[in-house]
Amino acid sequence: MHAKNKNIILTGDRPTGKLHIGHFAGSLKRRVELQNSGAFDEVYIMIADAQALTDNADNPEKIRANVTEVALDYLACGLDPSKSTPFIQSQIPELTELAFYYMNLVTVARLQRNPTVKAEILARNFEASIPVGFFTYPISQTADITAFDATVVPVGEDQLPMIEQAREIVRSFNSIYGNTLVEPKELLPENSVCGRLPGTDGKAKMSKSLGNCIYLSDSPDEIKSKVMNMYTDPNHLRVEDKGDTKDNPVFIYLSAFADDGHFARYLPEYENLAALKAHYERGGLGDVKVKKFLNNVMNEILEPIRLRRIEWEKRLPEVYEILKKGSLKARETAAGTADRVKAALKINYFC
Ligand code: ATP
Ligand code: MG
Repeated sequence: MHAKNKNIILTGDRPTGKLHIGHFAGSLKRRVELQNSGAFDEVYIMIADAQALTDNADNPEKIRANVTEVALDYLACGLDPSKSTPFIQSQIPELTELAFYYMNLVTVARLQRNPTVKAEILARNFEASIPVGFFTYPISQTADITAFDATVVPVGEDQLPMIEQAREIVRSFNSIYGNTLVEPKELLPENSVCGRLPGTDGKAKMSKSLGNCIYLSDSPDEIKSKVMNMYTDPNHLRVEDKGDTKDNPVFIYLSAFADDGHFARYLPEYENLAALKAHYERGGLGDVKVKKFLNNVMNEILEPIRLRRIEWEKRLPEVYEILKKGSLKARETAAGTADRVKAALKINYFC
């Protein structure tokens, strides 16, 4: 039977680009805290290359190159291979096998209703030409989660419909074939603005595929130029104008990243974010001043990550060894689940 009463995390990222501050706020930072909390028996972190190929079938080089980039970002953020198991999705064929059987439990109409799939189809201009693999990725994601008996999946807000879908498949599987799979729960960031960080262009979501990101590996000059060019309140034209802080990504980033210590160090004339917001809203505070502060905050947070990344970049063979070891361990676990699933489906002929 499955790993009863264990606390297990499964989470991951698509290697479609380097990781950005949205990933850090939405998931990475929390993962590292959870990994270090000692509250979890296993922490699996997946680089979802097979999933990334579903909408990048014509560009395998991009996916391959970004597997390394994502692994470097993980290690730079403090993912510790002695406490977590990073692995590469495609190296675990059992995940594909599980997805194939779960497909029988989901209707096309149900997938079509999935709001994240809908939004992503629109964002990729796939309306008339959705690859079947992409369309079914929520099912493949259920295979990833259940293969490890994951109880907790730390994610950003856009992934909620995926976890809901996973729970439905688990319930359906268990009710037809007997109690076999574990139902997962999502874990969203405590600070709600971190669950869906907007892009520097003000678009609803910072996303590798939209090119509106501040990357964890950006240089101080790149960060500065991105911050100083950020979209703000388009109606805040003159310093004395009243400004909006709610739909203003500069203030949203400050809500996600700035603490009172940052104010004391870089902008002591304001006690905290509430005071800065109040001034902007009543007028008399220019965007440049706020952006300079945000730049200082981002640099303070990103500098240690960038420096650790540079160190790991010099040790690539070690990085690959970590991924290989992780993938071997992950495969063993997933194979156990696949055996259980095949027994439940009565296709374990030669056991
Ligand atoms: P792609 O555009 O290729 O889908 P992405 O930037 O959306 O890339 P994913 O690899 O799909 O990144 O997402 C990995 C994790 O990061 C998920 O848990 C997702 O919820 C979270 N995440 C992604 N973008 C953001 C964001 N802007 N704010 C908060 N969390 C995010
Ligand atoms: Mg995504």
